[in-house]
Amino acid sequence: MKIGKCENDGGIDVMSERFKNFLTGQNHTWKLSADNYRGLNHVEERSFNYDGFCVKVQYNPERMRSSAAKVDSQSIAARKCFLCEENRPVVQMKLELGNDFILLVNPFPIFKTHFTIPSVHHVPQRLLHNLKAMLTITKQMEGFLLFYNGPECGASAPDHLHFQAGETGFLPVESEFETMKEEHGSLLLQSDRLKIWAFDHYLRKMISFESSVLEQVLEAITQVYFRFSRMQPQKEEPMINLLCYFNKGTWVVHLFPRKLHRPSQFFADGEKQLLISPASVDFGGVFITPRREDFDKIRMEDIRDIFSQVSLDEENFRILKGTIGNI
Ligand SMILES: [Zn+2]
Repeated sequence: MKIGKCENDGGIDVMSERFKNFLTGQNHTWKLSADNYRGLNHVEERSFNYDGFCVKVQYNPERMRSSAAKVDSQSIAARKCFLCEENRPVVQMKLELGNDFILLVNPFPIFKTHFTIPSVHHVPQRLLHNLKAMLTITKQMEGFLLFYNGPECGASAPDHLHFQAGETGFLPVESEFETMKEEHGSLLLQSDRLKIWAFDHYLRKMISFESSVLEQVLEAITQVYFRFSRMQPQKEEPMINLLCYFNKGTWVVHLFPRKLHRPSQFFADGEKQLLISPASVDFGGVFITPRREDFDKIRMEDIRDIFSQVSLDEENFRILKGTIGNI
């Protein structure tokens, strides 16, 4: 089912054979994974068009365990970590990526090719000291988009450092960034090798970085991280979702500053409940609804309201932007 026009214009057609083959190989030996990837062919989708951009909604019942995951410290301590090698299914294969990260097939996919990229160590989900590794892997995996969900921003294993990856061309944010940046983005900084943009009127707040030099994009994100961190001193790390991809020699990184983990609709009762727990994919423009009833009833206004609850508010976004001109 499709409502409205909301087509992405393709993305980069350079998906590495090595990664595609890894998925194919895994699905030959793991029925659960193979069944869930086959199920994606029948996934239902709706699209809502806003002013110059769109948000899709995907009905994906297999994502219930992620959307409804209990991530409080007691619940985390009481379960076995599903990203640690000793607890992973024997059938789950791994691919070494270097930098102490490995690639696993995500058996509960949103993307047609969906990987989890955990650290080989059971260490907490933190961005700052792992950003360089993330950018390095992003370049290795041109044709894929990597994303990071902060420990209070949608990570269902906040105790085990990990990224995820899916094929480019699926999330609306990629093409919308290109069409919106000149007209609707504010260019906060421009140097020879770095551009930083801010988007105020995209339902959510977004800061985007473009650079062909790893050190430049790394330094710029680090600076924004520290400045945002000072605005949320009570947090172990500022509330962030991050999406990045590497295209023809350039890193593009979208950073979504937040103020809340889950919206009021998540905790509401009965008719008012919408079981939506926004993370990077939702911020990239695809809302995931694990329950059919939510998929059927969600409206444009709900999406607008959910984004406004969980995204950084106007005033604090203005303050954060104000610190960026002098990076
Ligand atoms: Zn672990």
